[in-house]
Amino acid sequence: MLIVMDTHATPKQVESVCEEIRMLGLTPHPMPGAQRTAIGITGNKGAVDAARFEQLPGVMRIIQVTAPYKLVSREFHEADSLVHVGNVTFGGNQFAVVAGPCAVESAEQIDRAAAAVKSAGAHMLRGGAFKPRTSPYSFQGLGEPGLKLLAEAGQRNGLPVVTEAIDAESLELVVRYADMVQIGARNMQNFSLLRRAGRCGKPVILKRGMAATLEELLMAAEYIVNEGNHDVVLCERGVRTFADHTRNTLDLSAIPFVQRTSHLPIIADPSHGTGRREKVTPLSCAAAAVGADGLIIEVHPDPDHALSDGQQSLYPDQFVDLIARVRAITTVIGRHLN
Ligand code: PEP
Ligand code: MN
Repeated sequence: MLIVMDTHATPKQVESVCEEIRMLGLTPHPMPGAQRTAIGITGNKGAVDAARFEQLPGVMRIIQVTAPYKLVSREFHEADSLVHVGNVTFGGNQFAVVAGPCAVESAEQIDRAAAAVKSAGAHMLRGGAFKPRTSPYSFQGLGEPGLKLLAEAGQRNGLPVVTEAIDAESLELVVRYADMVQIGARNMQNFSLLRRAGRCGKPVILKRGMAATLEELLMAAEYIVNEGNHDVVLCERGVRTFADHTRNTLDLSAIPFVQRTSHLPIIADPSHGTGRREKVTPLSCAAAAVGADGLIIEVHPDPDHALSDGQQSLYPDQFVDLIARVRAITTVIGRHLN
């Protein structure tokens, strides 16, 4: 249930409604908006008695939320949520581009990648230091030294950084070095990690699990927001299908669906979504055309010698071309890729 307060409701009236909610053993989530404050309620098993709140001073109306996800639903919060990371904005009419290698491999590699993506127009730098690999014999990431190299490359090149946390231990380190935390596809339903991410104090990119429905993705986001962290950016990164011409099937229909049902920004990852370098630019254009709030793209200074995901990593000059094409599309649909 959502309690919409009157435009002129005082902070004291908002607090008394919150107090009434707490008295029922439930949790109030006040969400101040441009026009008025709305107060979400969670913790209830069944319907909450609306009559109890309708009479309270300052209350304008009560909305029953029908979706299983509450805090992340459009019913709860009508306007688009904007997620800020430094001077980068996800959502609204901005189009954000995150780029960099799959993994941080060395100081030279991450610095060259950062310089290349920055000069091409990317807004943020990516690079994994903790890699969830299918094989235990594959490169697992540099760990904390990798985080240091990523943070330094970001600072040198004026780019905020995002990197993946795979468990509680790596989350603690990631929070120390990065501007934004990535929760990967394999951990989308790691509920204890989601809860920790909800308390970590940094914005989060939450990637869709490779066999997750959109309801499951939104419920996963709900875990993070329910802990008090509203800065969640969703990411469509492809799901597993029978198709074998790509690594995954990038489900671009997820983007308009999520935008209708949730206020959270959603970006696309055509690198993991296709797994093939030559398909990354066309699918990036398509993602921009369907209204994605941004992209996350793997770019490597020397993809042929990359320690992970080389076959889907763009050469720097291909990324320059990608940005030009995507920018043309964002212009047509009225968004800004600054
Ligand atoms: C990655 O971003 O490098 C990654 C491992 O992504 P995903 O979790 O989508 O597979
Ligand atoms: Mn990768």
